[in-house]
Amino acid sequence: MSAEPHAPKQMRLAELVDLEAFREVMQSFADLYRIGVKVFDADGAKLVDVRVGAGPFCAYLFQHAATKTACTRLVGQLKSDPLDEQGGVKLVQCFSGLRYAVLPLVYEGDALGRVIFGPFWPKDEVAPSPRLREMEPGLDFAQLAELARAVRDASDEGVRKMLGQLRLFVEVLLFSSYRAALTSQMHIESVTSSYHELSEKNRQLLEANERLKELDRVKSNFLAMVSHELRTPLTSIIGYAEMLHEGMAGELNAEQLEYVGTIMDKGENLLSMISSLLDISRIEAGKMRLVYSEISLSEVAAAATSSVLPQIAKKKLSFAQQIADDLPALTADRDKVRQIAINLLANAVKFTPDGGGVRLEIDRYFGARHSAAAAGGTGSVFERGEEDFIRIRISDTGIGIPADQQERVFDSFYQVDSSSTREYGGTGLGLAIVKSFVEGHRGEVWVESRVGEGSTFTVLLPTARG
Ligand code: ADP
Repeated sequence: MSAEPHAPKQMRLAELVDLEAFREVMQSFADLYRIGVKVFDADGAKLVDVRVGAGPFCAYLFQHAATKTACTRLVGQLKSDPLDEQGGVKLVQCFSGLRYAVLPLVYEGDALGRVIFGPFWPKDEVAPSPRLREMEPGLDFAQLAELARAVRDASDEGVRKMLGQLRLFVEVLLFSSYRAALTSQMHIESVTSSYHELSEKNRQLLEANERLKELDRVKSNFLAMVSHELRTPLTSIIGYAEMLHEGMAGELNAEQLEYVGTIMDKGENLLSMISSLLDISRIEAGKMRLVYSEISLSEVAAAATSSVLPQIAKKKLSFAQQIADDLPALTADRDKVRQIAINLLANAVKFTPDGGGVRLEIDRYFGARHSAAAAGGTGSVFERGEEDFIRIRISDTGIGIPADQQERVFDSFYQVDSSSTREYGGTGLGLAIVKSFVEGHRGEVWVESRVGEGSTFTVLLPTARG
């Protein structure tokens, strides 16, 4: 932005002043002195034309050829003669004996136009010029003298004074108009420059966004590659540990068995973390594929439960399971639905202190989506858009999730307590994977929770594939 806004030099008189008001003032000025006023702008366009007295006299001269030509020439001269740059009044003599005064309208060195004040009779010669007889012998001088009486006389000095007042007035008017024009121009300039700044910021943001997306792609590819490469040796480690545990390389004593058991446990933990990384990187790279088949929910529930039973026993949690009998068939990706249940159950177990409770419920639910209710529909039957769902609910009596973080826990790598002293393990990917898998099935997942009381995660999977 240029520091100083320049003056609106290109502005025309007609744009600067309020023409209506300007005309009225010129009218009163002409009435006051009984002398006509015309105002032309710098391009010669007539803005004001107030005639006083001289009309019939001039009209009479205009009816005769020679005087008409002379009159036309005079008008041209009045309109276009160079102006006095200092703003001085110029007197122009008409062939008829009348006189005009021309006042330049100058503001800060710019010629905006001119005021033509007249005609009037010069003080010393209040009569039509005798030269008119030579110019146009057909003129009726008696009539002309009669018409001439309607035009007032004025001394050059008097006219200069009158125009001095007019100039003062016009200057005040132009000053305030200029100020207003300047203010609005400054306003426009500042808006324009803010707009340019914003556009530039926007462009930079778009660029940064593109770079971030690229980085994100690189990260996802890196994760996919690393997790894939880690998985292979890790499966071998677990496999060999299992063989040792089974005694395939000779009998182990109790202590050796315990150590190998720990290797297997930790190995399984690591494997599930790596699998999560691989899942999320596939999801982020848009490479998630669903393999549909008709699935049995009680089988899914049994598989998911068996994966957490050892932990449940270890923590002495009570576990309840309720699976409705009237469940409709569900066509879905078996592995993904199982993974959804496993991740939610594993969290419920992980975040519930010893002696607490975990509950798994699966039933049929016919109704509106959770998001529709949250969006605050009118509740009309037509708007509700009810659907048939399989509803999976996993509740616990654990530590709970603060209200302001209940949406964020579904973000990748987000953990409520991410401090280094955090007591729970994990990657912060489990729920992000759940959400992607659920949404891949056009379903919904959300959590209701109270800190210190427990959490309930609900999954809705539509039975129609749509
Ligand atoms: P992870 O469990 O590996 O940290 P998740 O994505 O599964 O990652 O969960 C993200 C976070 O959400 C957890 O770290 C925890 O803070 C919170 N959370 C998830 N499930 C529960 C639960 N049942 N009770 C309390 N907090 C939970």
